[in-house]
Amino acid sequence: MDLGIAGKKAIVCAASKGLGKACAASLAREGVDVTICARTEETLNAAADEIRALGGGSVQTVACDITTDEGRAAVLDACPNPDILVNNAGGPPPGDFRDWDRDDWIKAVDANMLTPIFLIKATVDGMIERKFGRVVNITSSSVKAPIEILGLSNGARAGLTGFIAGLARKTVAHNVTINGLLPGAFYTDRLKSNLKVHAEKEGVSMDEMAARRAASIPAGRLGDAAEFGEYCAFLCSAQAGYITGQNCLIDGGNYPGTL
Ligand code: NAD
Repeated sequence: MDLGIAGKKAIVCAASKGLGKACAASLAREGVDVTICARTEETLNAAADEIRALGGGSVQTVACDITTDEGRAAVLDACPNPDILVNNAGGPPPGDFRDWDRDDWIKAVDANMLTPIFLIKATVDGMIERKFGRVVNITSSSVKAPIEILGLSNGARAGLTGFIAGLARKTVAHNVTINGLLPGAFYTDRLKSNLKVHAEKEGVSMDEMAARRAASIPAGRLGDAAEFGEYCAFLCSAQAGYITGQNCLIDGGNYPGTL
């Protein structure tokens, strides 16, 4: 299926690895010109080369911390009028809420709630004027079902989701959609570092821990980032203009609810 977005411009945040990189790859393959960012220049450039090798749209890089005003300004300077915005950043650390102080909460809210909101604020009016816009916020399955040790993530991402629920219904009349894409367990560096902590705690190997996690998911396996990227590209497609304000789970059937 031709997604009808060749020649569009996209900002994909936090895209040197994992889910962000997969989203950028799927979009570029569709002929979208992507601007990707991450903090470390070397890994960012390596990711850009990998994506370029797939053919398709152009790839430009901005090495920055997207959770800062300066970082967002640099990305917007490089791509001032995006048609597509994929919001992403590192997730907050796990822990017990008794150990978190105001700074911990502010960091989580900054990264996983305010950063996407400020990027949307800077780009959505241009999308409305041009009568095309697709915003995908990479959040987490924790938006649907909280993960006990990820209270910072549960809280900050729920704040973003609540805000978007209102805005997404204001922009859609202009063919500007805003949706959440909610990963379950994808075998990325982030998940590997979480599994490592559990493996060490339980005295088993990483492979064993990954196998146990996979077995706990109805699909019987962990997700592949490329599957996530393809879903993102579809939500950004010309055909997806009637989908907005949704929180789209991609979790191998792990969420047990009927709805
Ligand atoms: P990852 O560690 O594989 O990749 C994270 C990417 O974000 C890297 O490119 C890193 O350089 C970049 N990054 C991190 N902080 C940044 C910042 N401040 N500015 C710019 N770039 C930054 O992680 P992932 O698995 O791809 O996860 C992406 C998001 O999805 C995270 O918020 C994570 O919490 C969430 N998530 C992941 C899973 C999963 O199973 N992988 C599940 C639920 C939620």
